Amino acid sequence: MALPWLKQPLADALRTQRGHALLVHGPEGVGQFEFAMALAKAWLCETPADRRSDAVACDACPSCHLVDTHGHPDLLVLVPEALRDALGLGQSDEPATDGEGRKAKPSKEIKVDALRAAVAFSQQTSARGLAKVVVLHPAERMNAISANTLLKTLEEPPGIARFVLSCGDAEGLLPTIRSRCQSVRLALPEPALALAWLAEQSVAEPELMLAAAGGQPLSVVDRAALGLDAAVWKKLPSLVTRGEASALSGWPLPLVVESLQKLCHDALLAAHGAAPRYFPAGSVGAGHNVAELTQWAAELRQAARHAEHPWNAGLKLEALILRGQQALSRTSPKLHSTA
Ligand SMILES: [Zn+2]
Repeated sequence: MALPWLKQPLADALRTQRGHALLVHGPEGVGQFEFAMALAKAWLCETPADRRSDAVACDACPSCHLVDTHGHPDLLVLVPEALRDALGLGQSDEPATDGEGRKAKPSKEIKVDALRAAVAFSQQTSARGLAKVVVLHPAERMNAISANTLLKTLEEPPGIARFVLSCGDAEGLLPTIRSRCQSVRLALPEPALALAWLAEQSVAEPELMLAAAGGQPLSVVDRAALGLDAAVWKKLPSLVTRGEASALSGWPLPLVVESLQKLCHDALLAAHGAAPRYFPAGSVGAGHNVAELTQWAAELRQAARHAEHPWNAGLKLEALILRGQQALSRTSPKLHSTA
């Protein structure tokens, strides 16, 4: 297991979880998918469990190699098309065009057809004789029809089939799905473990970036790939104050909104004389207008709910930064009256 903070939870889960369906959940950026894959690999590993430390996969047998090369006949990994590349799973065989010959956009959902295929897969005989494993990630990307397709199989799973559902927000799943799975909750890692790992990934100023990502180490690495590094993060409060959107232009809109929410949160803390949580001390001014910031926070919550919509990202970014500039330019009325 390459993520050091998952070693102990993985050993615990392998020792205690004997169910046919597991739900791995916890904060984003902790490694739910990596955890689900490590469980699958351990269940399929052909070195007897009592000869492996903590029953984790041996990483040496033919089965472990097949999992690593995404060629294991008894493992099906079900993720939305749009996530395959990011998870290192490569291309799928989904048609590249829609019914009318247009280039199809990769789906962000786990589609019902894929789930039907997964259910059929789980009912087949095991090719290598140990188990049939289906990893489904992120489980909250199943729509209601997909979830209902899965439900019946979770109620009466075929003898050797095991399902691992991994997700960020377990509340986003149907209660009937949750109640049929054994729950494995992953917590945010100890900062020392996360910082050591980030340093190994060559992340500059890991402490600052871990705070920026709310303690989620994998999010730090994802963001660095989008150009969100320590230098940009430190400049962000002054960029927004000046209304400069260009440094954020390559970011996905949900990340822009989330970053502004963190800035707004820290500006509110500063206005109450408290230390910032996401930005370095002193980078967010203290004299902002609390009523204005509270209103901005409400608008950002609204924007966050729609941030995945296919808006004109360029226009929307400008509007978000302009609004941030406005909210941060209104100083506290108390300061005005004493001026
Ligand atoms: Zn093995």
